[in-house]
Amino acid sequence: MTILSSASAPDSLAGLPETERQLRIDLAAAFRIIARLDWHEAVANHFSVATSADGKKFLMNPKWKHFSLMRASELVHLDADDASTAEGPDAPDPTAWFIHGTMHAKLPQARCILHVHSPYATALSCLADPELKPIDQTSARFFNRIAIDKGFSGMADSLDEGLRLADLLGNRRVLMMGNHGVLVIGNSVAEAFDELYHLERACRTLMLAYATGQPVSVLSPEIAEATAQDWETYSDGAFAHLAEMKRILDREDPGYAN
Ligand SMILES: [Zn+2]
Repeated sequence: MTILSSASAPDSLAGLPETERQLRIDLAAAFRIIARLDWHEAVANHFSVATSADGKKFLMNPKWKHFSLMRASELVHLDADDASTAEGPDAPDPTAWFIHGTMHAKLPQARCILHVHSPYATALSCLADPELKPIDQTSARFFNRIAIDKGFSGMADSLDEGLRLADLLGNRRVLMMGNHGVLVIGNSVAEAFDELYHLERACRTLMLAYATGQPVSVLSPEIAEATAQDWETYSDGAFAHLAEMKRILDREDPGYAN
């Protein structure tokens, strides 16, 4: 893989195509927001966003960089078709490139891929039944829309693992990774971020309900499906959500956009 660009100078965004510049700013914002929510895991986990039509060129976080410090100019630009130069000092683990590159290439709708070990989704993924039951408006958003991977086999990431995860995800947007965490995709950074946000909130509500020890009242499949369909008319909300979060960052933590 080739690092197409890994600029670090604050003004380096100026020479980039406007589309890439915006993708960098949005993805850097997503990293900082996720860190604020305490859904990061030390300096691990990866977010990526495709920059080419075939998904094989994509931006990703540099190696060992804390989410809370991410800058748009520091994201590395990778090409899944060029494995010759994996030696760059900022290059992520090559297997992470392969997994994200494979998923971007195989799933046209996976323009943005976010993987985290967020607390409540990960806790739910560790239950014998990791299904996100539809018990309220937010959890019903995901009714019959989550793929579940019960095949955790350690940290053995590989190209084959990317193919396996892409097949498992299919046309869904959320992969609940049993005994591990979650992976969310979207057509844009805003949509993937909004999906992840509501997923973690839904998992929090379900885990808090479970924690009472009382029986959980699960919505009927008809009501859950109707609610999920209602959510699908709200895609504008995802863009407004990220835009508002960026306004908060602009006020309190503006370095992400450099
Ligand atoms: Zn992970």
